[in-house]
Amino acid sequence: MAKSFEDFKLNRQILNAIEDAGYTVPTPIQQKAIVPILSGQDIMGIAQTGTGKTAAYVLPMLMKLKYAQGKDARALILAPTRELAMQIEENIRIFAKYTDLRTVVLYGGLGPRTQITQIEQGVDILVASPGRFLDLYLAGHIVTKSLQFLVMDEADKMMDMGFIGSIHRILEVVPRKRQNLLFSATMSALVEKISGDFLKFPLRVEVAPQATPAHTVSQILYPVPNLKTKLNLLQHLLKDDEAFQRLIIFCKTKTVADNIFHFLERKYGPEQVRVIHANKGQNTRINSIQSFKDGAVRILVATDVAARGLDVADVSHVINFDVPIVIEDYVHRIGRTGRAYKSGEAITFCTEAETYYLKKIEKLIRQSITKTEIPEEVFIEETPYAERQAMAKEIDLQKRKENPDFKGAFHEKKLKNTKSSRPKPSNKTKSFQKNAKRSGR
Ligand code: AMP
Repeated sequence: MAKSFEDFKLNRQILNAIEDAGYTVPTPIQQKAIVPILSGQDIMGIAQTGTGKTAAYVLPMLMKLKYAQGKDARALILAPTRELAMQIEENIRIFAKYTDLRTVVLYGGLGPRTQITQIEQGVDILVASPGRFLDLYLAGHIVTKSLQFLVMDEADKMMDMGFIGSIHRILEVVPRKRQNLLFSATMSALVEKISGDFLKFPLRVEVAPQATPAHTVSQILYPVPNLKTKLNLLQHLLKDDEAFQRLIIFCKTKTVADNIFHFLERKYGPEQVRVIHANKGQNTRINSIQSFKDGAVRILVATDVAARGLDVADVSHVINFDVPIVIEDYVHRIGRTGRAYKSGEAITFCTEAETYYLKKIEKLIRQSITKTEIPEEVFIEETPYAERQAMAKEIDLQKRKENPDFKGAFHEKKLKNTKSSRPKPSNKTKSFQKNAKRSGR
């Protein structure tokens, strides 16, 4: 079995791009799928997001397509959501950067004109939602005769979203002679059926699902209405310094991390708390982590990016001040507790706008996280108008992300109108700090 990417006999351009991306060792699905795909086999891959499945098919596909050729697409990748289509395109862009291969992404929810222009300029790889692909094909903008590769990503989700009709229709309009790859997180009867219609003598490759959280970690979820209440709840929890001996507070952005840090520093003094994020110099980060590890500092505030790859474990509590948007980070975050402390606790604060990611996390870890009510002593704040608006907008965007063929003209208009009433980042930061001060009674 290949131990490094060099062993796959990929070309130099691709190997250099892999190196730039910082990948050193192929993941298990890449180990299993790349060679058979290079040899031209049909594949049925059972692998979840987070396993490296995208590169598992993108790398050999780029290797086979090599360079820009002709005008019509030679590869079609079907994806159920706009979000996934964009992620796939991002992967292609990273690995194809030393080639001249052309990729166009097609999804609904916005006018097709730009997409049509891009196709007309010549394309090698199309990444598309089934609905938008068909719309453009039927309108005569896509020529399928050169397609050699057909990839169906997250096939289970496509079935759940009712795309089976569109997929059958697409299978009718693509050339018969082609290589087919299907990836799915789970195997359902419908996926089994579509793979029967779609794949020829496929090789089945399967990898174990993502690491599930250790049993020693108890997971708790507090539905919280807004930011101020999150701060009140955090203060309340930290009062119990016997239980909360050594904790990491995870935040989704540097700004939030800095604000929480200043808030805690004022409350507990500079000796008790450190912050790490990408804007802090390497030395500062190392020093902060060292003092936290030594036990000199009780609280570490961190962003996911800064915490990735750092050896900070053995903490009594992980507090997710925000639900992570990169859902795999949830498993990484909570994996830092429940080791030396036999029963670690992972506590997540979740607003209504964050439940979208929470649901995805629960699906990923295949468990639901126990909901707990905010303790009575914690003051529940009113949600300010600007925060309410921002959350409503976020929820609207999430809906549009989930439904790539959503014709959202009305919503788009509505969003444009609400744009001006959104707080500017600087104001938001200021009001956050003010709130933090106020709640720091
Ligand atoms: P995916 O399952 O394709 O969504 O990939 C999950 C994450 O793993 C992405 O952030 C990839 O960039 C990353 N990834 C994929 N393959 C590797 C690898 N061999 N080494 C390091 N990171 C990887």
